Amino acid sequence: MSTEILILGCGSSAGTPAIGCQCATCTSPDPRNKRTRSSSVITTQGLSFLIDTGPDLRTQALREGLTRVDAVLYTHQHADHLNGIDDLRAFCYVNKAAMPVFGSPYTMHDINTRFHYTTLPPGQWWELPSLQTTAVDGPFCHRGVEIIPVPVMHGRWPVLGYRIGKVAYLTDVSEIPESSFALLDGLDVLLLDCLRTQPHHTHFGLEQSLTAAARIGARQTVLIHMTHEFEYTELSARLPAGVVMGYDGMRICSAA
Ligand SMILES: [Zn+2]
Ligand SMILES: [Zn+2]
Ligand SMILES: [Zn+2]
Repeated sequence: MSTEILILGCGSSAGTPAIGCQCATCTSPDPRNKRTRSSSVITTQGLSFLIDTGPDLRTQALREGLTRVDAVLYTHQHADHLNGIDDLRAFCYVNKAAMPVFGSPYTMHDINTRFHYTTLPPGQWWELPSLQTTAVDGPFCHRGVEIIPVPVMHGRWPVLGYRIGKVAYLTDVSEIPESSFALLDGLDVLLLDCLRTQPHHTHFGLEQSLTAAARIGARQTVLIHMTHEFEYTELSARLPAGVVMGYDGMRICSAA
């Protein structure tokens, strides 16, 4: 059974270009230097799992022709991963059903309080998203697809990555606990946070990403959640074998 990953966005919280910046990346005509906020779709066994709902969700969906989402997997509640939540209304309308969403107990609590109106039953006119929140703290199945949450540290906050089959998505990570490395054995494709050149207190810098990628040993590692510090052609030329930069609209097929 093949799995397809579609990168909707691979940018950091500011996006690239960053407002007010005139650097070489931000002014580059190369579309691979234009990064919306990080989000991806993993499609397997006929189901599409959207990872996070960043503030660019609507434009990402229109750009990629994404019309169907079967469930949402939230990594954490930061604005660049959550605040496009209202645009789930469109997918609820298409499905004519409430949307199943999964995440840590903390993230689900945050949605249930800050965005309580999204958790009500569908209205007659689908004027609001209607989400069914489920808190997860271990592997679970959704309509026959096994999903493994992968706990990682984002500074001092625990957040979730996800593994589906031989594909894993780890964003906003500054440390991978030993117990989580065990969940990342035998990967075909790994999407991995790589914020910038230097380390950051809540994210991997380049060297940390490459060290983690080498240890995990996926057939292919794709860097995501990048700032404008990284120019596509320049950084791509100096990445080791098996590691590539992500770009918005990138599609990766995993036969595994
Ligand atoms: Zn982020
Ligand atoms: Zn810039
Ligand atoms: Zn974050």
